[in-house]
Amino acid sequence: MVWSFYRFGPLLALCLSLGSAVQASDLAASAGAPVKLLVSSQPLALLLGEILPPSAGLQLDLLVAPGASLHHPSLRPSQRAAIADAQRVIWLGPRLEPGLARYLNAVPEDRLVTLEELADMELLQLGTGHVDSHVWLSPENAIQIARVVPGLMSDLDISLAGLNQNMSDFISGLEADMQLASKRFASLNDNSFIAVHDAFAYLRDYFQLEQLGALIDANDQPVGARTLWGMQQRIKPGADICLLDNARYPAGQSEALAQYAAFHKVSVDLSGANYQPGKGAYRRYLNSIIESLYLCLLANSNAGDP
Ligand SMILES: [Zn+2]
Repeated sequence: MVWSFYRFGPLLALCLSLGSAVQASDLAASAGAPVKLLVSSQPLALLLGEILPPSAGLQLDLLVAPGASLHHPSLRPSQRAAIADAQRVIWLGPRLEPGLARYLNAVPEDRLVTLEELADMELLQLGTGHVDSHVWLSPENAIQIARVVPGLMSDLDISLAGLNQNMSDFISGLEADMQLASKRFASLNDNSFIAVHDAFAYLRDYFQLEQLGALIDANDQPVGARTLWGMQQRIKPGADICLLDNARYPAGQSEALAQYAAFHKVSVDLSGANYQPGKGAYRRYLNSIIESLYLCLLANSNAGDP
């Protein structure tokens, strides 16, 4: 009985699998019921879905829906029940998702996957003293997370060779995407932007962009008058500025700054609401944000030409 072989652990499972690129149907669960993985947020689900595409044998559920606050989540009883029901609860961890800690503290260690402990991520410290929790926007951190995913599943009845293949396909695809994007950003003559929500520092550093400031801090609080004033000092009078917005916030704060600069505003889908986890979905999500940012900066670059 194949099922019992898999029960003996990852090494034997690895030997038994054929090593080809995994199809969804390869991810067979033991007794017919899918393995339930509960993932804290949609962007993280998109990333994990590259390695663990949802299939008959694997169910990726979401704890916090896209659009709901990741910084200050408030979980309903049904969401708490999903925590109790999942075989694995996968989250970034108490430092990066502090609002979830009180809900996940009671989850037994063998069911809880805390990625900030396992993946070798580089965390950015923001000016406010906060760590930038939007680590999934860092291509490097996304790769570090991807690397640990197959190992996390080693005691579940899932084809590890398939997962390893998915992981290496994902990493090489993402690296190629980022090489292309880096070339495009390097060709710009104006690379400064303002973020509505201070979520884009990983991309700023990765592509060596200049961020003049943010209107809402990384912990979801509107920045104070002194910070706004400081940002205004960095905007050249009459300059075109790229404003990177994400749909969840009202336009009030950006309008308050409109007197200082003509904004090229682009909206990005930061929460990933427009995507379904699966192969290629995280890359489409990240590339779409990067493309929007690039086009916004390109418009400024063109406007700045004599
Ligand atoms: Zn955020």
